[in-house]
Amino acid sequence: MRVARSRTVGPVIRFEKVTKSYPGPGKPALSQVSINVDKGEFVFLVGSSGSGKSTALRLMLRELRPTTGRVYVAGKEINRLATWKVPRLRRQIGTVFQDFRLLPTKTVSQNVAFAMQVTGRSGRDIRRAVPATLELVGLADKGGRMPEELSGGEQQRVAIARAMVNDPMILIADEPTGNLDPTTSVGIMKLLDRINQSGTTVVMATHDNGVVDQMRKRVVELDHGSVVRDEATGVYGFQQH
Ligand code: ADP
Ligand code: MG
Repeated sequence: MRVARSRTVGPVIRFEKVTKSYPGPGKPALSQVSINVDKGEFVFLVGSSGSGKSTALRLMLRELRPTTGRVYVAGKEINRLATWKVPRLRRQIGTVFQDFRLLPTKTVSQNVAFAMQVTGRSGRDIRRAVPATLELVGLADKGGRMPEELSGGEQQRVAIARAMVNDPMILIADEPTGNLDPTTSVGIMKLLDRINQSGTTVVMATHDNGVVDQMRKRVVELDHGSVVRDEATGVYGFQQH
């Protein structure tokens, strides 16, 4: 007999021949992209600017819908989710961006707490989780600061704390080191690695080869919307140029 649990067996993220065209002329942003990401993996999505990385990440969040093909998260085809279930999907996915996106009028602690308040968590849970999560990202003593008082690397750590405070299954990071110098980027990558080691699946888009080379993780490369390299499936097409 099938048990409910069996539905989540398999990849935590699955793209099945996904094509995404934006309105207007031009090639699709993604063409026939198929990717599987297993639970607990750390995957880099690489490729030059405009290759389709952010489009792929936004499809995982159902901020966009595929033109053709299917996107599954935790075994569910997310394009078919009822609108009212989309917030539940997004609660399972923490997000981090190049530009941090902190609330400038709230303290560090309030920024992190806000992510729990919007999901209706109790004050008791929040008071416990926020300091623990700030500790995780190495900012235990910065809870009372305002974002503008922090360095770029520290602001990104706050954004990571905010993404992680609800204990998501997946962390999606879109060029998280894009605004940071190389030394600061190393620290952020160590933190993302540690988060991955404790069980969270991480998908990170970057065009910074230095960051990718230092990490030795699975790399999926996009070129003009097509997968031209995927170390998990042995796709190494078009690598010559
Ligand atoms: P990357 O993140 O790798 O730089 P994107 O996914 O942002 O790539 O973009 C892929 C392609 O889709 C580019 O040609 C870009 O111009 C186009 N594109 C991205 N977002 C939009 C949009 N909202 N409307 C129209 N075209 C878009
Ligand atoms: Mg992008």
